[in-house]
Amino acid sequence: MLFPPTIAGSLPKPGWLAETEKLWPKWRLEGDALAEAKRDAALLWIKEQEDAGIETVTDGEQFRIHFVHGFLETVEGIDWNLKTKMGIRNNRYVVDVPTVTGKPRRSRPVHCDEAAFCRSHTGKGLKFTLPGPMTICDTLADGHFGRRADMAMAFAEILNEEALELEAAGVDVVQFDEPAFNVFMDDVNEWGIAALERAARGLKCRTAVHICYGYGIEANIRWKETLGGEWRQYEQIFPAINASAIDEVSLECANSRVPVSLIRLLPDKGLLIGAIDVASNEVETAGQVAATIAEARRHADAERIQPCTNCGMAPLPRAVAVGKLRALGAGAELARRSL
Ligand code: ZN
Repeated sequence: MLFPPTIAGSLPKPGWLAETEKLWPKWRLEGDALAEAKRDAALLWIKEQEDAGIETVTDGEQFRIHFVHGFLETVEGIDWNLKTKMGIRNNRYVVDVPTVTGKPRRSRPVHCDEAAFCRSHTGKGLKFTLPGPMTICDTLADGHFGRRADMAMAFAEILNEEALELEAAGVDVVQFDEPAFNVFMDDVNEWGIAALERAARGLKCRTAVHICYGYGIEANIRWKETLGGEWRQYEQIFPAINASAIDEVSLECANSRVPVSLIRLLPDKGLLIGAIDVASNEVETAGQVAATIAEARRHADAERIQPCTNCGMAPLPRAVAVGKLRALGAGAELARRSL
């Protein structure tokens, strides 16, 4: 199928599972009741994605509060009580982050059962997302390594263990989320891609990297206002990504100041074209989605294009996210018919 739609990853949590329209919501339940409710929510979103015509679905991150900490919660070598105030994403926001006090080690598989559960409930392609090594390092304080590149490589090793198990559980695509990639462009070229490739080493399933301009939260909106009339961060990192072992790149296009022509720097990669704006509650029309796909087609073969969301939809109202899923599916269908 041409233009098989997928999503960047996260979807809103239903109101009975967690607080709504928040990036760091509190769960509404605990223990076994929480575990059951997470599975119910994942099922619900798999169904919504399938009904919308999404060809590669995700669990919508229904099993974790946050895409980075969800993976790190059970990893040894991190002191969650030793909080350090740190400006993350190059001081875009200041938060209290936990501190790395030793070599990270997985105490157990993290997301494997969740992936297996989703696998048993869909015949569509299944994608599972993990935080990328650079983004992990930008969300933790270093009290052990002394060099961010060394810390990233240590986390890449345990991400790789996890990714290989996800693949064994039947996942079709492992995607690493690296929003830090368009903030620290020099580091990406120096060690970020090497760490990413280490995390993906030995995988036979498809691999992807998601690089975006973030959720539609206030701090990001202010940051974007400082980036000027054209956002050209991708230009500095796409050549190295194109030369890497990663198969697909998920990028932001809809309603953004990213020149879509920059995808010409990724001639050998699958392209997840962000055709849904996650920073607005306005639901796109199928025509708007098809127009973004048509713009991408001016710069890349149709065979390499997967319509996608700009970023995760976690903080959006549930009805808005459902509407955007349907617009994505309908827009891809419209683009197919217009060929
Ligand atoms: Zn994103």
